[in-house]
Amino acid sequence: MGDAFIYQGLPARVLFGQGMSAKIAEEADRLGLQSMLVLSTPEQAALATGALGWLGSRAAGVFSGATIHTPVEVTERALERVGALKVDGVLAVGGGSTIGLGKALALRTDLPQIVVPTTYAGSEMTPILGETRGGRKTTQRSTKVQPEVVVYDVDLTLSLPARMSALSAFNAVAHAVEALYAHDSNPVVSLMAEEGVRAIVESLPKVLREPNGAAGRSELLYGAWLCACCLGSSSMGLHHKLCHTLGGLFDLPHAQTHAIVLPYALGYNAAAVPEAMARLARAMRTDDVLNELLHLERNCDIPLALRDIGMPRDGIERAVDEAMANPYGNPRPIEATALRQIIERAWAGTGV
Ligand code: NAD
Repeated sequence: MGDAFIYQGLPARVLFGQGMSAKIAEEADRLGLQSMLVLSTPEQAALATGALGWLGSRAAGVFSGATIHTPVEVTERALERVGALKVDGVLAVGGGSTIGLGKALALRTDLPQIVVPTTYAGSEMTPILGETRGGRKTTQRSTKVQPEVVVYDVDLTLSLPARMSALSAFNAVAHAVEALYAHDSNPVVSLMAEEGVRAIVESLPKVLREPNGAAGRSELLYGAWLCACCLGSSSMGLHHKLCHTLGGLFDLPHAQTHAIVLPYALGYNAAAVPEAMARLARAMRTDDVLNELLHLERNCDIPLALRDIGMPRDGIERAVDEAMANPYGNPRPIEATALRQIIERAWAGTGV
């Protein structure tokens, strides 16, 4: 049974390329949708208003209240708009926060979703929804929340500032890294993971040099899509669970936490996952994956220590306790002393 595996294909229809948002009306017609609510964050309200034009007569209105961690109060306000406008579908335009709101609406209403991602975080390709109620975030998997159509329009990513692009790109790399050593991984996911990391590592320096360059942005978005597929298809390990714990305990920003923790979590697992490390070495064209990852991050002008994004020193012990109290699947068993060491290093940013 050594080579046995289960592969579950993701059901989404994907359109990729510059100017692809011009195809959204056609996609709405394919789904039989006649009255769609456009979702965005307040910061992307102008983009959402522009999206009404993509929909033409199928546009019902805009809800621009999406915010990080999908609070249920925001979902309830959006549900009121859904009811008042009698919409039959949602168009989410933005990053993981906006896509999360679309998923929360789909969970409650079964409305079909067309999603236009403008970051590299990857929520669009997953059946996962994280929601916050009374400050507590819970995550669930449901096929109801998986978007029907995903439109990757490279043009809409050009406005993502260079630093946020880098942070979001490392968030994407983390999905691929953990898929490579997931207990439920398979050859198709491993191919996507390796190619996703290659595309991101090659394109990120180009995007940082020239944030408006379509070629670099296109390759970065392509890599992020592959990494998102990995997230949707595999169980995540230490890295994702630790980021979730730290984010929840200390209200840390999502992409920053992922970028900082990644080299340390991978360092914890490296010796236990030689095949994954070999694939990463090939994708990154290096013999020293961990140091190459740190080197890439150092060139991105992003925070490199948890203490720099608001985690208190005395939080290290709380994070270890929380992780030990809720043990999770990981190729190397979670052991308190070793875990404390990597959190200490990530907190201080001392390197792996
Ligand atoms: P985000 O959606 O919160 O976006 C951050 C900010 O950037 C927002 O103000 C947004 O409007 C702005 N922005 C987005 N795209 C832009 C662009 N192209 N140009 C200019 N500004 C832009 O950030 P995110 O990192 O994409 O998403 C984080 C959230 O997504 C978290 O809540 C996280 O838990 C969730 N998430 C969920 C999954 C999943 O599978 N369920 C996967 C990844 C992330």
